[in-house]
Amino acid sequence: MKYIVVSGGVISGIGKGVIASSTGLLLKTLGLKVTAIKIDPYMNIDAGTMAPTEHGEVFVLDDGGEVDLDLGNYERYLDVTLGRENNITTGKIYREVIEKERRGDYLGKTVQIVPHLTTAIQDWIERVSHLPVDDTQSTPDVCIVELGGTVGDIESAPFVEALRQFQFRVGQENFALIHVSLVPVVGGEQKTKPTQAAIRDLRGLGLVPDMIAARCVEPLDRSVINKLSMFCHVGPEQVMGVHDVSSTYHVPLLLERQGMVQFFEKRLHLDVKGGIAPAM
Ligand code: ADP
Repeated sequence: MKYIVVSGGVISGIGKGVIASSTGLLLKTLGLKVTAIKIDPYMNIDAGTMAPTEHGEVFVLDDGGEVDLDLGNYERYLDVTLGRENNITTGKIYREVIEKERRGDYLGKTVQIVPHLTTAIQDWIERVSHLPVDDTQSTPDVCIVELGGTVGDIESAPFVEALRQFQFRVGQENFALIHVSLVPVVGGEQKTKPTQAAIRDLRGLGLVPDMIAARCVEPLDRSVINKLSMFCHVGPEQVMGVHDVSSTYHVPLLLERQGMVQFFEKRLHLDVKGGIAPAM
């Protein structure tokens, strides 16, 4: 099983969901079976009790799970059927650990965020990533894990730590990370400083970006890609410009043109079954 984590920096609502879905779709064109997990670092057990005016529409899954709209994007982009367990919230994971504690499963130990909660998060991701999500009932090859919110928030800290540990649990060749960041245009100039700071925060927490998806209102200048590469300690081929497009269904095309598929094929030693990706 290969895992691709999509996290975000600078601001929320930056397009992580669209980039996560688009990445999954591109890998699917290689003949790989793709599943997805969304992490929502809020205390609600699910989105069912949240006001749509505040949170956006709730998406209802086939098993009745009431979840974030991103799960709807995954189902549409990847042509899969997900269940309520494909959405992890802080509320769900705390509930699981507290129920285990009440049953005495921790055998008298002091139950802590690290390692008990972080282990529960990793166990959940590993278990759910193996569940079949289409009619073939076979185990997926790749799991996209989207971490909601922004890296550096108090809310997402246990999940960031769990993912830091997870890269060693599954091995470097099975774990890659895309960090979505913002390149604002100020006075006509594309500014890289917020992304530099976001990547520094990410590295400080023990996560290393394999790819930086830089969101910008306009296409990124080549010089800006080179600057991000230089200051964020990644190769230029690891920087994807993702500018505003009229339909988010164009985002997979944008990523494909910049070599995302070839990058992950090499980085994750993907066992490609369907041959070369069809031209999109
Ligand atoms: P996040 O998962 O970071 O909260 P989403 O993927 O839900 O962000 O995207 C937030 C909003 O931005 C959505 O309305 C989405 O359609 C829009 N969006 C994302 N990427 C793009 C893009 N490249 N061009 C135009 N709109 C986009």
